[in-house]
Amino acid sequence: MVAAATAVDGGAKVIVLEKMAMIGGNTARSEGNMSAMDPEPEKLLPMTPAVRDIVKKYTDQKPCTKEVAQLQQTVKDQLKAHNAAGKKYIFDSPELFALQTLEGGDCHNDPKLVLTMTRNATAAMEWLEKQSDMKWYHVPRYWVDVGIGGIYPRGQWPRHADGKTPISTYDAYISPLADKVTKAGGHIYTQMKVMQIVRGKDGRVTGVIAVDKNGKNQAFNGKNVILAAGGYGANLKMVKKYNNINVIATSNQPGTTGEVLEEAVKVGAGLTGMKWIQIHPHGNPKNGELESAIAGRPSDTPYVNVNGDRFVDETGRRDDISHGILAQPGQVVYAIFDQKTIDQKKVRDDLMQIALGHGYAYKADNLNDLAKAAGINQAEFAKTMAAYNEASRTQNTKSLPVPKILIGMPVDKASFYCVPITTTIHHTMGGLRINEKTQVLDTKGHVIPGLYAAGKITGGIHGGNRLGRNALTDLLVFGHIAGMQVSPKP
Ligand SMILES: Cc1cc2nc3c(=O)[nH]c(=O)nc-3n(C[C@H](O)[C@H](O)[C@H](O)COP(=O)(O)OP(=O)(O)OC[C@H]3O[C@@H](n4cnc5c(N)ncnc54)[C@H](O)[C@@H]3O)c2cc1C
Repeated sequence: MVAAATAVDGGAKVIVLEKMAMIGGNTARSEGNMSAMDPEPEKLLPMTPAVRDIVKKYTDQKPCTKEVAQLQQTVKDQLKAHNAAGKKYIFDSPELFALQTLEGGDCHNDPKLVLTMTRNATAAMEWLEKQSDMKWYHVPRYWVDVGIGGIYPRGQWPRHADGKTPISTYDAYISPLADKVTKAGGHIYTQMKVMQIVRGKDGRVTGVIAVDKNGKNQAFNGKNVILAAGGYGANLKMVKKYNNINVIATSNQPGTTGEVLEEAVKVGAGLTGMKWIQIHPHGNPKNGELESAIAGRPSDTPYVNVNGDRFVDETGRRDDISHGILAQPGQVVYAIFDQKTIDQKKVRDDLMQIALGHGYAYKADNLNDLAKAAGINQAEFAKTMAAYNEASRTQNTKSLPVPKILIGMPVDKASFYCVPITTTIHHTMGGLRINEKTQVLDTKGHVIPGLYAAGKITGGIHGGNRLGRNALTDLLVFGHIAGMQVSPKP
């Protein structure tokens, strides 16, 4: 929808084909949180020693490629200049963002695509804000947290016009763009499933064939085709084809089945990184749905196993946390936080009430009763929480049995909450090969004329492990580029 709205702005005639009864896909299902550098960085909170440690972790680790080595040096120079200028607020830059995305993805990503994303992230965020009266809540202006697997305080949350009230992701990311497309004379078809991509003898893609809700084939011709059909996380057969992962639940909407990607391969498209599939640590153990909205903020929330022990740095990478969970007894662990998290609106009270009503969370007046309700070993849990809270108060986590790079508030104010979590198939990082202009490349790296792709259907941006919040940055940046590419007046 980002590509379609951008294209109509550029004077293109647009048709959007959606196979489900409703538009929005996983984007509408998501929390809507994206990563971008703050447009007014001087408003950010002061840079704490822990945030400095995070930067150092990425600038000082052994570089996995020469591009990463260059970025490490650039970031060191930028940080030095930031300090020399007496700037006290949290340091950030497109290069730090790129460095973390590359190292977080174990350098299986394409550095050119990554830098395209990070250098255009803030502009893309501002572009979306202009499409309706939504406003961004720039989280690091209010508290320091990394989000689940986001590894740096760079989170941007969509809000209503007052800048505070939560807005549905559909209303922030989908409906204003869909309205723009239809108002400009574009057509949005639902229950119209793309079955085939048509490529002419001259090598140019000229359209697609779709099947409508009555089972009738419909041909759509166009000067250009943009593929934005998402990933394949809800297609277990395809997941197993590329990665024999031992998780079957998924957070994805049921239409995330990857057939458009497979059709693109039939017309010559190349693939990259297909074996990289992210399992998310915030799966609901009963149904695989994502619990991130109620599982607390990672810096404030210790995760313990059924024995009452912490086992991982909650502010680290998603793959480390998920594989940590898989190594725990029963492969279910517990996110623990207190009333401050609710009072400070880091977790919405209305969502927590729903979760409690469904039996997806526990609440108690003290930590001992909380452990009892959740079936966690009470004696060990008491020891773990005492040490954790002491580390939080002294901001010294090095003596913890499992250190934590960024520790937030102690868990010490009634009521207390516990959310059981496990792993769930979340993000298929591999997909179609594209270049920085979102043109789809064939298996030899040549452009397929007339064919573009953006979002989760593409590969190369997130490497072996997608950072939290980077998917929406990806689709905003590359969706926008794709829309401009096909516009008569970009
Ligand atoms: C529960 C959840 C929470 C998330 N939260 C966040 C978050 O806060 N921040 C973040 O960065 N990322 C988040 N993500 C990831 C992010 O939402 C997705 O990676 C992103 O929305 C993918 O966007 P997309 O446009 O590529 O695909 P989608 O938004 O899934 O859109 C693809 C559309 O194509 C349609 N389609 C598929 N096949 C066909 C076909 N054959 N014919 C016609 N239409 C077809 C699908 O039905 C779908 O509507 C979350 C994901 C989930 C599941």
